[in-house]
Parts: sequence; C-alpha cells; structure tokens
Amino acid sequence: MEHDVLIAGASFAGLAAARVLGPAALLLDRAPLGAGQTSACAAPTHLVERMGAGPAIMQRHDHLAIAVGDDAVRWPLPEPFCTFDYAAYCRLAFAGTGAEFRQASVQRIEDARVRTTAGEIDVRMVVDATGPRSTLAGPVRGRRIAFGLETEIAAPPADGLWFHFLPEVRDGYAWAFPCGEVTRFGVLSYLGETKLLPALLRFLQRFDLQPGPLHGGFLATGWRPAATGRVFVAGDAAGQCLPLTGEGIRTAVLAGETCGHLLRGVLDGRWTLEEAGARYGAVIDRERRRYRALLWGNGAALLLPRPALRLLVRTMSRPPALSAFFRHYLSIFAPTT
Ligand SMILES: Cc1cc2nc3c(=O)[nH]c(=O)nc-3n(C[C@H](O)[C@H](O)[C@H](O)COP(=O)(O)OP(=O)(O)OC[C@H]3O[C@@H](n4cnc5c(N)ncnc54)[C@H](O)[C@@H]3O)c2cc1C
Repeated sequence: MEHDVLIAGASFAGLAAARVLGPAALLLDRAPLGAGQTSACAAPTHLVERMGAGPAIMQRHDHLAIAVGDDAVRWPLPEPFCTFDYAAYCRLAFAGTGAEFRQASVQRIEDARVRTTAGEIDVRMVVDATGPRSTLAGPVRGRRIAFGLETEIAAPPADGLWFHFLPEVRDGYAWAFPCGEVTRFGVLSYLGETKLLPALLRFLQRFDLQPGPLHGGFLATGWRPAATGRVFVAGDAAGQCLPLTGEGIRTAVLAGETCGHLLRGVLDGRWTLEEAGARYGAVIDRERRRYRALLWGNGAALLLPRPALRLLVRTMSRPPALSAFFRHYLSIFAPTT
C-alpha cells in the first residue's frame, strides 16, 4: 500500500489535518470513527462550527464559573464556548473530507514504511495524532501527564462551564459541564493520579447524584519537537494540551490544521519537507512564553493554599485582569499559514 500522507489518529488533531489534506490523506484509527470519547468536549463554538460539526453542539456557554470551595465567581467569556457530542463531531468533521478512513492501529515507522495492524504502508509524510502515547513519534522525556475521569448523567439544566477547586481533589480540580439534558461531571489530577473514582463519587455527592458510565484518560502537556523528518506531531501526541486548564481540543485542531496546510504545501511543491518542518517548529516556538505562563499558573493552582487561591481567582475576576488573561490565553496557537 502507498499513500501521500498517513494520519494516525482520527480525533481532534487528525480530523483537522484530514479536512485540509482531503483525498491525499489516509486516516487510520484503532477504534471506529467517533468511538472512544475521553474528553468533556467543551471548546470554542466557532472552532466546532469551522470543523463542520455545528449540529453536534449540545449547549452554548457564555461564561465560566470558578469555585474555590463555596466561593464562586463568574468569568464572562470573550467568545462563546459550547459542549458537544463527540461521536457526532467526528462523523461531521470527517464527512466531505474525501480522505479515506480505515480502522487499524499504527505500530511503528521505519524510514518511509509504517507498520500497522492492516499491513505495511509506504508513505511520503505522516501526521502522528495518536494522543498522549504518540505511537509513531515515540515517547518524550519530561512530559507532564495529567489524568481525568468523567461521567455523563442526567441533571437539572444549568448555565456555564463550572470549575471547582475542592478538598476532594487536592492536586487538581473538578468540573461540571452542562450539555442540555445531561451534565458531564469530572475530576482531574494534575499529577496524573489515576485512582480518581473516590474523588468523583465525593464530588457527585455534593449534587446528590450517582455516577453513570465512566470515561477518561491522560492529558499530555509538554511540547516536543514538532516535526522530525517526515513525521509531524499534533495535539496531545505533541504535548499540546494546555497546562492549568487541561484544554486540548482547540490546540489539537489548530495544530492539526497547521500540519495539514504545511504538508499540502509540500505536495503542491510550494516548499520542501524540511522547510515545512522548520515552519511548524517556528509556530510552536512563538507560543513558548504563553505556554510557560500557563505552567506557572498550574504551579500556583497546585501549591497555593486554598485561601490564597481564592484571593487570586477573585483578583483575576476584575475586568482588566480577566480581559488580559483571556487575550493571551485564547490567542495561543493561532495559525499563521
Ligand atoms: C477526562 C478529560 C476531559 C477533557 N475535557 C476537555 C474539554 O472539555 N475541552 C478540551 O479542550 N480538552 C479537554 N480534554 C483534553 C482533550 O480531550 C485532549 O487534549 C484532546 O482530545 C487531544 O486531541 P488529539 O486529537 O490530540 O488526541 P485524542 O483525542 O486523544 O485522539 C487520539 C486518537 O488516536 C487514536 N489512536 C491512539 N493510538 C493509536 C494507534 N496506535 N493507532 C491508531 N490510532 C490510535 C485514538 O483511538 C484516538 O482516536 C479532556 C481530557 C480528558 C482526559
């Protein structure tokens, strides 16, 4: 088998790349398209709509609510976010790409040959969008891995995306993201603690609720070289999930699109593979300062005593501070190609 571009992983990063590359791309995922949701699926509305997945939106949100203990503040969002149905998102984002999808696991790459459970595939270029394991690009030393566990259950309608800093999750936060008739309740450990069920149960007790089906996974933070030879890495595979918030859909989509445009440029003869790799590296380098600031924020959320964190959140709620925060935060990773 031969292909111009193989995209490994058909989730946020992989689908975004496929939408740019179209029929030039072969998209592989170990699971059927849209199966295997890990995420709470909250993202900027315009991004979901740009991916052709507007009909997957379940609820729109104009604010965040940040609660430290019982003290909650409202942070109006400068641009609307939404919660959406993951399976529908994947189906809609894939529709009309013209790319080919196959269910198969990638195992490793040797020069221009990718070994998969569906046989060997010769490729010119690869996008590794396999999530935190980064199967083709390989492991990264020093990467920070958080872990999140979530359940989706029927709950009274509510507004806003809620983040709770509570005693039941000392090294992270809990969230409640309303999605129409259901709400996604979850807990996240910044330190990658995986035994989170007791914390989730205690969080649900606050609302008198029992858990439904559970899902979750790792979130990979810690940027790696963005491109090595013919392998371009995007999304969690590249450690592009943001520290502090754990937001990784926006960065995965933007990075996937960027890879798509750069590889399209190689196919069209506008630049070489090496030049495309250098351009992708430059996009990542441009964001390092903002990324580091979020790492500091993550450190503060972990280390500050809760009264100090409450004070910090209240101080940040003042309009000039909040608009500066959102201006920097929401412009991270904006595409340049
Ligand atoms: C509990 C939880 C809640 C979260 N909530 C949010 C949120 O509300 N908003 C937000 O922005 N971010 C959230 N995140 C983070 C976000 O989900 C990730 O950053 C995002 O999914 C990364 O997208 P991706 O495309 O890089 O990787 P993934 O979404 O992880 O997709 C990787 C894909 O690769 C496939 N794959 C893996 N290995 C192989 C292989 N060997 N061969 C073929 N295919 C393979 C997988 O099946 C999967 O489809 C959350 C994460 C967790 C764990």
